[in-house]
Amino acid sequence: MNYNSDTIKIDGDVFEILLDEETIDKRVNELGEQLSSDYNGRLPIFIGVLNGSVIFFADLIRNISIDCEVDFLKLSSYGDAKISSGKVTLLKDLNCQIESRDIVIVEDIVDTGLSIDYMKKLIGQHNPQSVKVVTLLHKAEATKYDVQLDYVGFKIPNKFVIGYGLDRSQKYRNLKSIYALTNGK
Ligand code: 5GP
Repeated sequence: MNYNSDTIKIDGDVFEILLDEETIDKRVNELGEQLSSDYNGRLPIFIGVLNGSVIFFADLIRNISIDCEVDFLKLSSYGDAKISSGKVTLLKDLNCQIESRDIVIVEDIVDTGLSIDYMKKLIGQHNPQSVKVVTLLHKAEATKYDVQLDYVGFKIPNKFVIGYGLDRSQKYRNLKSIYALTNGK
């Protein structure tokens, strides 16, 4: 596979570039500036959702210009399926105290909204001061749960995407751009 091509073929499926490195970089920078301004004078905890958000998370927090803390959560993934099973389980809990703290959940992508809904409820049980959500990608047409997304990088069509942390069967997270499946969802 050619990691620098605009079109990628994987097992007969064709993925085309949706967001290139430069576009992602610019938007992540803007989100970082916005969050730095909105949380100025506070000490937010950025909570990354493993594994998909690691690349976005690492880039985002380097664009945060105020003091912050970080922690990670891990939920059950889709496995190798492209469609959500409709169930979420917690695979790794937080290691920090979140009571009375300002929490920012950092997601790679919101699809149905099930995972974010689950995390907001989970975090909400521990009496944080506030809980907001930043997601790099939002498949607005696919979202069924009524969750507020406070910061959205890009609204994207309801297509399966890979790259920049997003996988297909655990691979292709290391692609620098984001690619969308052209044949199917
Ligand atoms: P939701 O719970 O909102 O339906 O889905 C959220 C999770 O599903 C994401 O964190 C991600 O792990 C996975 N997901 C949803 N859509 C895609 C996609 O297009 N590509 C990849 N690689 N994962 C996705």
